[in-house]
Amino acid sequence: MERLRHNIAAVRALAGQRPLICMAVKADAYGHGAVKIAEEGLRCGASFLGVAAVSEGAALRAAGISAPILFFSTAGETELDELVSCNLSPFVSDEEYAAALNSRAEKAGVKLSVHLKIDTGMGRLGCRPEDAPGLARRIASLKSLHYEGTATHFAASDSAGEAAVKSVKKQLALFNEALVDIKKAGFDTGLVHAANSGAVLLYKDAHFDMVRPGILLYGYSPSGELAGLCGGTSGVKPVMEFVSGLSFIKTVKKGTPISYNGTWTAPEDRVIGTIPAGYGDGLPRILTNNYQVLIRGKLFPLVGNICMDQCMVDLGDGSGVERWDAVTIFGGAGLSAADAAAKAGSIPYEITCNVNKRVPRVYV
Ligand SMILES: *Cc1c(COP(=O)(O)O)cnc(C)c1O
Repeated sequence: MERLRHNIAAVRALAGQRPLICMAVKADAYGHGAVKIAEEGLRCGASFLGVAAVSEGAALRAAGISAPILFFSTAGETELDELVSCNLSPFVSDEEYAAALNSRAEKAGVKLSVHLKIDTGMGRLGCRPEDAPGLARRIASLKSLHYEGTATHFAASDSAGEAAVKSVKKQLALFNEALVDIKKAGFDTGLVHAANSGAVLLYKDAHFDMVRPGILLYGYSPSGELAGLCGGTSGVKPVMEFVSGLSFIKTVKKGTPISYNGTWTAPEDRVIGTIPAGYGDGLPRILTNNYQVLIRGKLFPLVGNICMDQCMVDLGDGSGVERWDAVTIFGGAGLSAADAAAKAGSIPYEITCNVNKRVPRVYV
């Protein structure tokens, strides 16, 4: 929690005092546990939360969280009543969805805040920039909707490369034009927001009235390329530490195969440890024979195929380690989820998200 507080302060320092912070807590707060993370985030100055499933918003409401919750995805017909009863604030990309939301809000006798979403180049959700004033008009005309904000999302803010910078600048220009057009049509754009973590780091002119960081709050750079910017004193620290233990230790003879299909055999007599964590817990199986874990401050290689529930580690001659020693899989000193991600051909987002529910979350 200390690291989370540190990271929120780092985002605050990057964004300055003006913009509100919308904390992305979708996917169970990137695997960290949405309720606890949201509660701490709100205590430390976040104003909005962001989820991507109605059920995620419902869980936060059930935990008693009353802060505004942005709903980043699009709800299906069967989810609309729950969206309304949980008072989630959805992104709206089209008039048909706006009308559907309005009729459910009207039925429930409430006014639902919505944020107009403009697709400026992500190609996911949002209306075309030229359609934004029309959509604003439609939203404003619907009596049970409150046009609270206007948003877009960047596709390439996580890179300082030439093509990426060009893409963000183009998106920003389109967004700014659309904002002007909405105002010219006579509507207040409300709370304007666009910046994900990459844009929080790289583009001050994209911070507007609110920033929407996710990965940065959890202590990782949105890409390896920007990791340098996240280091240093104003940098961020990994919040999640994925820790297991040595559940069994044995000595094996030279040539002994380890795990399914014997993809690793002991090159000499070795001490092998078993760790009760596998791909069913979120340790990517693709890291088989290509990853090291941390025990008593020293790195040891995982050996043999990673199983669903367990994996094995080569402890060398076994000196200096004992049964039930803690094993850091990632997130500890010098062993970041970014390393695991790089080796797994993934990104830290996916590594922390995939830590399975059966792994207890302990907050310190
Ligand atoms: C996930 C998400 C964010 C946060 O993205 P990060 O790269 O983790 O900072 C912001 N806005 C929207 C719409 C998102 O879906």
